[in-house]
Amino acid sequence: MKKETILIIDDDESMRDSCSLILTKDGFHTESAEDGIQGLEKIKTIKPALVLIDLKMPGISGFEVLEQIQLIDPDIIPVVITGYATVESAVEAMKKGAYDFLPKPFTPQELRIIIRRGLERKKLIQEAETLRHEKKLVEENFITMVTHQLRSPLIAILQYFEVILGGMVGVIQAEQKEMISKAKERLESLLELINDWLDIARMTSGSIVEKRQPMSLQEILKKLVEFIQPAAEENKITIHLQPPVGQDSVMGDPESLEQAFTNLITNAVKYNRPRGSITVSVREEESDVMVTIADTGVGIPKENLPFIFDQFYRVQRTENQKTKGSGLGLTITKKIVDAHEGSIDVSSENGKGSLFTVRLPKAKPQHNPSE
Ligand code: ADP
Repeated sequence: MKKETILIIDDDESMRDSCSLILTKDGFHTESAEDGIQGLEKIKTIKPALVLIDLKMPGISGFEVLEQIQLIDPDIIPVVITGYATVESAVEAMKKGAYDFLPKPFTPQELRIIIRRGLERKKLIQEAETLRHEKKLVEENFITMVTHQLRSPLIAILQYFEVILGGMVGVIQAEQKEMISKAKERLESLLELINDWLDIARMTSGSIVEKRQPMSLQEILKKLVEFIQPAAEENKITIHLQPPVGQDSVMGDPESLEQAFTNLITNAVKYNRPRGSITVSVREEESDVMVTIADTGVGIPKENLPFIFDQFYRVQRTENQKTKGSGLGLTITKKIVDAHEGSIDVSSENGKGSLFTVRLPKAKPQHNPSE
């Protein structure tokens, strides 16, 4: 096994020699430096696992060495050596990133305990880092796997069905047509589920936050209402988008917010009644912009309300109230709103309708640099 390297930075030769002697005996490889500058140079070349630093040295101080180590390699474990009179500065050193401190004079055993503890911590940090990295790889592989191995063949099957149903490979009988249409419908639901699932997997709040920009909520709601209107009209449902009250600009990622509000307005259509209505409004509040989506639909029973943002959760309904869905739409919506540091609430009266309220932080007014 490779010996771990420990660097001792101390202007006192006898201290360097005695630490080195003890640690070498314990199976470590040691290197020493008599001042901070030399120590930092060595750190860059030998990459030690742990560094022992005397706080009081001529030239650059132990504190400066500590700060530099953080910049060179934050994974190195720094331990400071300090005289009894300077315990306060040892505390200060801990605040500056030192892992531990060793007051002078110390026994070989005390030195061993602190070194062992420091190296144990380094091992834990490395293990945590490896696990994080592996988790990320698994997540990325999962997304690629679902996309290529599951989604692509399903899309291909769907296209074959469409070709058959379109009569492009010969005439099909009514019974065959009916069965293939049903198969196609089931496949479409499955694809919808996979797409929702992929959205959740891809949705890291980090990537949403990076893409945020000042944007008008009224503008995207107007676009969405126009887009969803034809589906609503099929059931004679009307959608009213009210004029905004106050300013409607938020720091948002347009693509994901469009998805979030599409889910809410589509649900308001899906769970509505024929000739029902939907009212969408935007209102400026003190630090947020509030969007409400109210419908006159079937509503959500009180006992189901706490769960409707959970993954795959769907309210059990009577046979004639059944609608298709994956139970992931509201989960996705909530994740998007959370990534924007906003909030989403619901209130509902069973049989009367539901009200979804989304609050998103207002965009800060833009300063014109020429002013
Ligand atoms: P899906 O619509 O795919 O089932 P969602 O996550 O969008 O999944 O919604 C979860 C459940 O919450 C739905 O199954 C439905 O029962 C209920 N729900 C959502 N929006 C409404 C609404 N506007 N009115 C009544 N019920 C709703």
